[in-house]
Amino acid sequence: MKKLGFGGMRLPLNNPEDPRDFDFPQLFSMVDSFLEQGFTYFDTAYMYHKYQSETAFRKALVERYPRDRYLLADKLPLSHLKQAEDMERYFNEQLEKCGVTYFDYYLLHNMTRTYYKTAAQLDAFSFIKEKKAQGKARRIGMSFHADAELLDQILTEHPELEFVQLQLNYIDWESPNIQSRLCYEVCLKHKKDVIVMEPVKGGTLANVPQEAEQLMRAYAPDSSPASWAIRFAASKEAVIMVLSGMSDHSQLLDNTSYMREFIPLNQEETDIIHKATDIINSSIAVPCTGCGYCLEGCPKNIAIPQYFALYNQFKQFGEKSNSRYYYGNYKDTHGRAGDCIGCRKCETICPQHLPISETMKTLSGLFDEKSQ
Ligand code: SF4
Ligand code: SF4
Repeated sequence: MKKLGFGGMRLPLNNPEDPRDFDFPQLFSMVDSFLEQGFTYFDTAYMYHKYQSETAFRKALVERYPRDRYLLADKLPLSHLKQAEDMERYFNEQLEKCGVTYFDYYLLHNMTRTYYKTAAQLDAFSFIKEKKAQGKARRIGMSFHADAELLDQILTEHPELEFVQLQLNYIDWESPNIQSRLCYEVCLKHKKDVIVMEPVKGGTLANVPQEAEQLMRAYAPDSSPASWAIRFAASKEAVIMVLSGMSDHSQLLDNTSYMREFIPLNQEETDIIHKATDIINSSIAVPCTGCGYCLEGCPKNIAIPQYFALYNQFKQFGEKSNSRYYYGNYKDTHGRAGDCIGCRKCETICPQHLPISETMKTLSGLFDEKSQ
């Protein structure tokens, strides 16, 4: 199995403001090109693209290729479960939306301390085990967004999990928040396969500061910054798959060019990554991946990931970034940073554990006044 997976969270769109408005001709050709090159793994989830990622893959993949040409991963939405019966209902709905009779990989989605309680109360672990016994989920695991201590506890209590999907990238490797390295080491201890999500950290590592990119280009002029990030993740021995959310054909061609015949990073390349990490860390204001999970519960309809992206641009490029101008564009359709009431609903769901409400105060001071 080649180590690059097609992520279903950032599919190509006609209108970037409408996550359901898929650019199907482009998606079809991306799926074709991916399969032609020998890649097979596709990853989706119930909530991606405002609940339409699964149907997009049905149209672009399932209805156009025989079932044995690809592997499909989907996830049980722990955040949506209220009672035990919900699990069967969501699972059947997912099979139907995807147009398949089984999933190759099925995960408990977004495991955190809060959702571990939900999963334990509703016995979601037995549910996916049963799906495996029925042949409706070939391999079972979870996507994990908490600390290494909890991961160790869950894998000890639930040895039936066969793999863990982890956020793993070179910026988060030593992060005390995300704990990529520590979580990876727990997976090694429990002998679990690792699937990597966010190897490029929501695109952050595809657009690194100039100084970091110069280091990379000096060593390998034709290799994109994204290639360094994906190869870093794929070089870890327990990693069986690296998911990339490819939003257009050029990104797909770039990813597949170095993952077709994957070569792990050598020592010199690893040293360059360490230097780039220091440079990037000093330029990021908010390590938001743009997943958008926080948007759903915000009572003030604040464009949280968009504002964080503007803040990061502002920190890197100052007034030249035009961040204030773009921020002003949002005010007719979204709440401003200053409208935040500090309810922290967003923070309970943010997989990056970001102090969103506090950061809104900083953002308000920076943008609200000057973008009237
Ligand atoms: S804390 Fe602020 S940004 Fe977060 S959900 Fe509440 S109002 Fe929205
Ligand atoms: S703030 Fe958190 S939940 Fe919201 S988009 Fe960023 S990483 Fe995702």
